[in-house]
Amino acid sequence: MPIVNRVADLLPEISAWRQDIHAHPELMFDVQRTAGVVAEKLKSFGCDEVVTGIGRTGVVGVIRGKTGGARTIGLRADMDALPIEEATGLSYKSQNPGKMHACGHDGHTAMLLGAAKYLAETRNFDGTAVVIFQPAEEGGGGGREMVNDGMMDRFKIEEVYGMHNYPGFPVGDFAIRSGPMMAAADRIYIDIEGLGGHAARPHTSIDTVVVGAAIVNALQSIVSRNVDPLESAVVSITQFHAGTADNIIPQTAQLRGTGRSLTPETRDLVERRVREVVEGTARLYGAKATVTYKRDYPVTKNHERQTAFAAEVASQVVGANRVDTAVPPVMGAEDFSFMLEARPGAFIFIGNGDSAGLHHPAYNFNDEVIPVGTSYWVKLVETALRAS
Ligand SMILES: [Zn+2]
Ligand SMILES: [Zn+2]
Repeated sequence: MPIVNRVADLLPEISAWRQDIHAHPELMFDVQRTAGVVAEKLKSFGCDEVVTGIGRTGVVGVIRGKTGGARTIGLRADMDALPIEEATGLSYKSQNPGKMHACGHDGHTAMLLGAAKYLAETRNFDGTAVVIFQPAEEGGGGGREMVNDGMMDRFKIEEVYGMHNYPGFPVGDFAIRSGPMMAAADRIYIDIEGLGGHAARPHTSIDTVVVGAAIVNALQSIVSRNVDPLESAVVSITQFHAGTADNIIPQTAQLRGTGRSLTPETRDLVERRVREVVEGTARLYGAKATVTYKRDYPVTKNHERQTAFAAEVASQVVGANRVDTAVPPVMGAEDFSFMLEARPGAFIFIGNGDSAGLHHPAYNFNDEVIPVGTSYWVKLVETALRAS
């Protein structure tokens, strides 16, 4: 397997960084320790610029190649962990109660640090590599914050690439597709107002529990009856809050959920139908419902040319037979999508082997992925910005 030799030499060091980050998980934008470790290492590698505080706690490192080409590409990793109590029993398990690196962002950060060390050492490319370490991927939109902070223009990033580990795929196998790769994820908030009263006198009330139940059922018809069967969408109601006692019909009820889609047309359709179905169903029962449909992460949409390029680089590392170039999209979401809206680029999955699933308390990033993922990053830079 053509793992870059120097990257193989760095493996013990990169694994040690990964395990140190794993032991100290931090949430959302509060990644001060992790961002501090990242910035300090980037400086020690001799990066030409290290800038902290982008998108609140994001870090950017700039590495210029030997020759002064004008082209610049961005490589992105995420640094945040999840509010889960770790159940791995690892020697380097989380030292922060209730927090855990259960999505492998410890591995993503360590691999990109490894690539930065190699690139700063060798500089065997023509142009500039920008390494991006973002906070708050898990629901906080840290990627959006970094883009809104002007990162793309400030560092003149022309193309941007991201990578996520994938449990269940063989270690180091790659999977990618052109076009929609991950879903748009929107937040649905529904507030129902009825008429509270005595549970023994339902005819004098408007029962928000019955209205809410009808709404939950009616919403199921959007995916089954409104969305084209060849398109993809999800409408999941995940919270239903109402009531305070056995003998009281509650005046109000609140529903919460998520709407997901892979195209702008389906996204518009889901939003429109959620509003119509909720408001119409409430009216049917004499109640009033208000819908807040908050568009959150957009579709993670890979650009065609950059996807073909990323697949070719992955093939250089592990062989074309281990690169799936037409993996089905998934309905999870990624805030790398904001970077792909700002610049062309591609997001790729890398197999984590037979591990527990992402966001599971027994999950662990597989250190055997490190040489493959780090080699992918360095070959991506050396190929995209090939020194003449
Ligand atoms: Zn995650
Ligand atoms: Zn993740």
